[in-house]
Amino acid sequence: MLNIPHLINSQRTYFTTGKTMPIKVRLQALKKLYKSVKKHEGKIHEALFSDFKKPLYESISSETGIVVRELQLAIKQLEFWARPKKVKGSLLNFPARDYIYYEPYGTTLIIAPWNYPYQLALTPLIGAIAAGNTVVLKPSELTSATSQVLEMIIQEVFSSEHVAVVQGAIPETTELLSQRWDYIFFTGSVFVGKIVAQAAAKHLTPTTLELGGKNPCVVDASVNVSLVTKRIVWGKFLNAGQTCIAPDYILIESSIKTSFLQALEKEIKRAYSSDVEASPDFARIINEKNFDRLAKMLEGESISFGGQTDRDQLYIAPTIIDNPSIDSLVMADEIFGPILPVISYTSKADIERIIDRYEKPLSGYIFSRKRAFTNWFLERFSFGGGAVNDTVIQFVNEALPFGGVGHSGVGSYHGKHTFLTFSHAKAIVKKGNWLDIPIRYAPYKGKNKLLRFVLKWL
Ligand code: NAD
Repeated sequence: MLNIPHLINSQRTYFTTGKTMPIKVRLQALKKLYKSVKKHEGKIHEALFSDFKKPLYESISSETGIVVRELQLAIKQLEFWARPKKVKGSLLNFPARDYIYYEPYGTTLIIAPWNYPYQLALTPLIGAIAAGNTVVLKPSELTSATSQVLEMIIQEVFSSEHVAVVQGAIPETTELLSQRWDYIFFTGSVFVGKIVAQAAAKHLTPTTLELGGKNPCVVDASVNVSLVTKRIVWGKFLNAGQTCIAPDYILIESSIKTSFLQALEKEIKRAYSSDVEASPDFARIINEKNFDRLAKMLEGESISFGGQTDRDQLYIAPTIIDNPSIDSLVMADEIFGPILPVISYTSKADIERIIDRYEKPLSGYIFSRKRAFTNWFLERFSFGGGAVNDTVIQFVNEALPFGGVGHSGVGSYHGKHTFLTFSHAKAIVKKGNWLDIPIRYAPYKGKNKLLRFVLKWL
């Protein structure tokens, strides 16, 4: 096995030499990365297909396209992002000018999951490099083809003292986590997120934890059902439901449940044809373990549509479960697959009773034409982010911070937020020497009144 302590030492030494610091060097690295990811785009798409039959369109829209946009933005904006920012000074310090300096943390670790194995590895990496850190990247062991292409790209662009890939599963990740890092960025499950947080706490290492949750999607009777089902079917069955921000379950106002279920079925057939298994636009489940976990959720449930499974092909059809019990397996935890429970409600109290059962989710969605009801949902429930009258789309705007709250995560990223995540904001006051107001210096005798006055009025 690779000598991990040796690798980290070499990165620490490299960082200490200051080689990652000049903005010019960071820009060169990002441009080189851009060239390489463009050059190998075809290989990445092939790898994603071989890992879990990810449709080419979805690979472009949710993997390579996003990485290219993030790179373009970082290359365009880095000089501005990294410049010390002048902030309003305090008269208490007069005469002085106040600034925020952005400094890299140092040697950082990025651990990526399998569901968007390319994009969720490189998007944080772009910000980490832009901010001037070194990086050890641990891609997912479940998407071996994509992880190999990632390693090839990183080796082509960076020296291992700057950025290195460590492949592996639990033993390798455990060893990585036993080391001291200056920052850890983890994307994955809540269960492993807790392991990462514990390991980081030993060294007081700051972390970003991008985790998951059970994302509610509320639909009231004021909506245009056919438009709503289009947007829900797209967001739910993209990547075969293996999306951290996919709607997990639907809460539907009871008066439109029947027409909603019919419209869902119609939309699934329209999008993927009546023979979904043959559709080139529907991905597969990542492995047997996840297939078995999902197939178990179907047992004993009232399936209103779908339900077909093929273990050899790791195929599970887009499946709608009509009013499952709240105590059923499918409502126990994040589903993370192409199964959509639809539960009816008649009052706000019903909605509260269900959403409040779970930890704060990564996303929340509401479809409604009623402003007051929409605002109630947005203010009443805490979740990482979301959308009104759509699903998943909050992800594509780099101006929005992407992250969870509570059990769905700590911290956020995308665009400039990634640069900020990987930078320490250092507060600096530059004091002028032309005036030195004596009130703060001892002896303090006779100055209390003046101090009170100053504190009140400045
Ligand atoms: P996971 O937690 O099983 O694995 C994530 C990473 O942790 C992998 O690199 C894996 O090798 C490593 N790992 C696994 N078990 C470990 C252990 N015991 N000790 C140390 N490291 C370990 O997650 P996953 O199955 O790859 O991804 C699915 C989960 O990730 C879902 O819960 C989903 O919601 C979440 N997710 C969140 C986001 C987000 O942006 N918030 C994005 C994608 C996925």
